[in-house]
Amino acid sequence: MVALGARLSAAVGGPTAKALTDGLDLQTVGDLLRHYPRRYVERGALTPFSELVVGEYATVVAEVTKATGRKIRPKLYKSDITIRDEDSATMTLALFNRPWVEKELRTGRRAYFSGKVERFAQRVQLANPDYQLLDDEAGVLAEEFAGVLVPIYPAAAKAPSTKVARSVRHTLSMVDFGADPLPAELRERHGLIGLEQALRGIHTPAEPADVTLARRRLTWDEAFVLQVVLAQRRATTRALAGTPRAARPGGLLEAFDAALPFTLTAGQVEIGAQLAGELSQPAPMYRLLQGEVGSGKTVVALRAMLQVVDSGGQAALLAPTEVLAQQHARSLRAMLGPLASAGELGAAEVATQVALLTGSQGAAARRTALELAGNGAAGIVVGTHALLSEGVAFTDLGLVVVDEQHRFGVEQRDALRAKGRTPPHVLVMTATPIPRTIAMTVYGDLEVSTLSELPKGRAPVQTAVVPTGERPAWLETAWTRVRERVAAGRQAFVVCPRIGGDEPEERATDNRRPGVAVLDVHLMLVHGPLNGLRVEMLHGRMAPEDKDVVMQRFTRGEVDVLVATTVIEVGVDVPNATVMVVLDADRFGVSQLHQLRGRVGRGSEPALCLLVTDTEQGHPSRVRLDAVASTSDGFVLSRVDLEQRREGDVLGSAQSGTRSSLRMLRLLRDEDVIREARAEAVAVVDEDLLLADHPALRQAVLDLLNEERADFLEKA
Ligand code: ADP
Ligand code: MG
Repeated sequence: MVALGARLSAAVGGPTAKALTDGLDLQTVGDLLRHYPRRYVERGALTPFSELVVGEYATVVAEVTKATGRKIRPKLYKSDITIRDEDSATMTLALFNRPWVEKELRTGRRAYFSGKVERFAQRVQLANPDYQLLDDEAGVLAEEFAGVLVPIYPAAAKAPSTKVARSVRHTLSMVDFGADPLPAELRERHGLIGLEQALRGIHTPAEPADVTLARRRLTWDEAFVLQVVLAQRRATTRALAGTPRAARPGGLLEAFDAALPFTLTAGQVEIGAQLAGELSQPAPMYRLLQGEVGSGKTVVALRAMLQVVDSGGQAALLAPTEVLAQQHARSLRAMLGPLASAGELGAAEVATQVALLTGSQGAAARRTALELAGNGAAGIVVGTHALLSEGVAFTDLGLVVVDEQHRFGVEQRDALRAKGRTPPHVLVMTATPIPRTIAMTVYGDLEVSTLSELPKGRAPVQTAVVPTGERPAWLETAWTRVRERVAAGRQAFVVCPRIGGDEPEERATDNRRPGVAVLDVHLMLVHGPLNGLRVEMLHGRMAPEDKDVVMQRFTRGEVDVLVATTVIEVGVDVPNATVMVVLDADRFGVSQLHQLRGRVGRGSEPALCLLVTDTEQGHPSRVRLDAVASTSDGFVLSRVDLEQRREGDVLGSAQSGTRSSLRMLRLLRDEDVIREARAEAVAVVDEDLLLADHPALRQAVLDLLNEERADFLEKA
């Protein structure tokens, strides 16, 4: 008997263990048993060549009569495998980038082949099929096919599916599954089978129902263990002794509210009250504020910051880019007016200061900012990740606001939290709205508040796709729209996917032409369609001072058209800009486009966003653009986005580790499981924070954390 935690070599031979480790990163017996089949080949679908239907998936059983292969392009290797069925019909299969298949599929060997039936050069064939060898040499005996379902595993060159299958079967015959990490009552409540039955069912199902039951149980495992980790984190954070920062009558917040030029939306009021209440508690607040682009998150955050300053503390606002930090500092000062001019002539009776700290500012400016933060004169300190550096100290940091969370990792948040005398309250803001259950997982240790309504009088952004492939003349019309708006005193953004100049690393790795570049487009526009307008550039390779100057001039209306990269994606707030042209829009993601478009339509005038693309109708990138054009609902779009991305990409940016630990769980599909697992996890952790009474669960949590740590180290 071997335990799940044992090294692989305890269950399979040394060379096999090495192949599984090198090829598939499987280290332990448990890793192998949690390497689930990608899919199953059904014997029932066996079809003679003559009956294959183009467009359907099919499995054939056949003998190899010829196998050759060659490189047909750099990075594209093609194997041609000719096979013959019982009726002596033949066909040739093309398999790509699996050079080892010729060694496996030698002349005379029999195998199942399965894939989608396609017509190629007048002949029917299977597109890049999977296969399962069918002879003794491969260790697959005929009786193993007595079952209906043959597992097909994610494979690697030295660890093909057959080898994985053999190792799994061997391991299943000798493994000690140990105690079940899911408590028995929980399994009963949710109708979940035990771990052993699930692992056997997923690898060696007798019928499809076995797979269904196993999947459900194993999905639960992942959701539950993850939620337990997050619940523990939340409980631990809550148990910390922070400092209550209650509102104070007659302070900055009251003065600010009295001078506010608009009425807060119902959502802003409600979330404002929620934050005010939590800030008044000794347990540190730990909250995510998500809301549509332009929903007014900054005001909500500023009001929370003022409450903290009123109670004698300081607030830090962490922004992901230099441009955004500068803009935040400027707009906070503007919103606060005399309330931010402490120590100056004309300051209000109660007043504070806003300091700005970025990585590339001059030594003098930096010294001043450090001083203001250190002696407490600055109630609000705005900065980039430079705020995290060691030389930065606060008198009494009471609240950390992190803007546009998707650019920050857990570690960075923690670094800033460590700068308080007691753990500060934390408010994370994001404009990438995601469904609540996903927020629970991606930002699972945060409570979530959502601002769903936009301030009144906001005209929606009209979005249209400009398909230059089908309608080349429409690009001209786009520039005409820009000229019209500028003539009416408005401003425009032109967004490009690249900066240009020498960026060898940006040269497309696929066969597509590189996207258009800011430097080229700027020249083209100045000498062509936008001749005579004041056109400037903004991109990441410019010096920070230059970026700031351009942004300020654009804000003041001294620049008509800003040709930029996605540096303007987040936070840039110039209500007079009412038109945006995104070039090669297909190079951007859905959420990114939604963010970009949020830069126009911040005033009361109807704004226009044109997505220029030369992709064909029906192409997946084009479908994405159509989705962006068809709705302005960020939640709908985030779903479109999530559906097209892999889980790991979704989680990877926000939460280290969880990336590799999710095998079965799909954030969108399994929302219900996540919700139920979260409730169960909270209940378990409330009773038993350290899981003393749940040793198997405690071990599963440790395994997950170890994986997370290993992952983090790898990234660092
Ligand atoms: P975001 O949520 O995208 O960060 P901001 O906080 O930048 O949005 O707000 C966008 C704009 O809307 C700002 O110019 C802000 O002053 C304005 N705004 C915020 N709340 C309201 C409101 N209740 N009524 C009118 N305008 C508002
Ligand atoms: Mg914002």
